[in-house]
Amino acid sequence: MNIFNPTIKAILPLVPKPLVRQIAKPYIAGETLDELVGVVEDLNLNGFSVATSILGEFVNEQNQAIEAGVDYIEVLTEIQSRNLDSNIHVKLTHLGLTIDKELCYSNLKSILKKAEETHNFVRIDMEDSSCTDDTLSIFEKAQREFENVGIVIQACMRRSMADIQKLNVLKANVRLCKGIYIEPRNIAYNDYQNVRENYSALLKELLTAGCYVGIATHDEWLVKDAFQTIDDLGLNPTQYEFQMLYGVTPSLRQSIREAGHRLRVAVPFGPAWYPYSIRRLRKNPAIAGYVLKALFKSD
Ligand SMILES: Cc1cc2nc3c(=O)[nH]c(=O)nc-3n(C[C@H](O)[C@H](O)[C@H](O)COP(=O)(O)OP(=O)(O)OC[C@H]3O[C@@H](n4cnc5c(N)ncnc54)[C@H](O)[C@@H]3O)c2cc1C
Repeated sequence: MNIFNPTIKAILPLVPKPLVRQIAKPYIAGETLDELVGVVEDLNLNGFSVATSILGEFVNEQNQAIEAGVDYIEVLTEIQSRNLDSNIHVKLTHLGLTIDKELCYSNLKSILKKAEETHNFVRIDMEDSSCTDDTLSIFEKAQREFENVGIVIQACMRRSMADIQKLNVLKANVRLCKGIYIEPRNIAYNDYQNVRENYSALLKELLTAGCYVGIATHDEWLVKDAFQTIDDLGLNPTQYEFQMLYGVTPSLRQSIREAGHRLRVAVPFGPAWYPYSIRRLRKNPAIAGYVLKALFKSD
């Protein structure tokens, strides 16, 4: 796969927008709230919960950050009025983190208040390592004021075990993922098996401490390992959930559900699908491998 990645990265700017749309389509609900609602209803009917997010990150103008906050409030209103089984997740750089931390927090607070009113939950995504400290401290501040907020920890980061020791004390609601960003070796594990082993160790720590965990992975090795941990700790399915990305490994998601575990599908939507898809592909060449697969898929 690796030998194709530089080629994919180089040709990315030349890939026509409709083709990028085609490649992104299975992974994104659409551009509008109506399209999102259709996808969420369908997933709910099939027994899956959803986590919705509006595509966007690293906005650099105040009005874009404020607009994102307003849009999320509209999403929460829609979720309530249509009685959908969906919470939301937000990126702090979409809410203005890199413009002004106070603006970002006040934006987040408005969303959390609306989520509280509508009995919903907001998870703060973890972005690249330039944002980790700010994201964790904003989460801790928010958790002092609100109960309906959660965070994400990335197993690829060397610091994560120390971070979860603090989160364990707070009994935080944590989504555990491998981490999508390419990070330098001095702060992150680059080896595939090391990331898996750290994921496994972090999951045990979190679940043993009584934290609610969103086990976010499509890696069958980790799914089996999580089943074992859940079994060893004698947990019941209300103490954790599995999470997967929309469009990724639907057969694995079905089998997890059929084995009696709860599963939440993360469904992004919004007009910013193009810059988001291109940026994601540029940032992580491993993901670009999936583009190659999509380009040459026969069905
Ligand atoms: C619900 C959810 C929320 C996430 N939130 C964050 C976050 O806040 N911060 C963050 O850094 N990362 C986040 N991630 C991304 C995560 O860190 C990984 O990059 C991604 O999930 C791939 O890791 P994996 O555990 O599935 O293992 P991998 O070994 O990467 O994947 C296992 C298999 O799954 C399939 N697969 C995985 N990802 C894709 C994909 N995108 N497209 C097509 N097939 C794929 C492939 O078949 C692959 O062989 C999230 C992931 C999920 C599922």
